[in-house]
Amino acid sequence: MICRNIQSKLPDLLLEPGSVAADVRAHVENCTECGRELRELRATMSALDAWEAPEISPYFDGRMTVLLRDEQRAPRAGWLERMRARLLFGESMRLRPLAAGALALAIAVGGGLYAGFVSQPAQPVQSASPVIRDLQSLDENAQVFQQLNSMDQDTGDAGPASPNSL
Ligand SMILES: [Zn+2]
Repeated sequence: MICRNIQSKLPDLLLEPGSVAADVRAHVENCTECGRELRELRATMSALDAWEAPEISPYFDGRMTVLLRDEQRAPRAGWLERMRARLLFGESMRLRPLAAGALALAIAVGGGLYAGFVSQPAQPVQSASPVIRDLQSLDENAQVFQQLNSMDQDTGDAGPASPNSL
């Protein structure tokens, strides 16, 4: 018998000894290699049995509620402001390249959308750099999206009375 085949049956031998063929059991009893595997597996399983998940702190719910309340009371920051803050002061350094990439993508997409969405002619800004103008257009796009969102919610509330709702 090949030890590798036997060892794939060792979990069954531990959990349901009756389901394992007698020749397999006989091999494990006589083979030092398979016997050692069985003992290690049994030790691992008993260690898992003894393991207990750590208790959740009894103050968790209270702290979470306070954090949520603070967040709800805080003045609502524009998404551009939040993105800029995360880019500059983000606590996780790993997020920084990700945020930079997302901002670059947003600028590229926003610049493309700007031409289509904003009907008013862009006022000439002589002193501002292209980056500032991109950020301004991003801000205006955010307002457009907010308006679209609220229009969407309005039609949703209006229900069947709205002629545009499908
Ligand atoms: Zn063996």
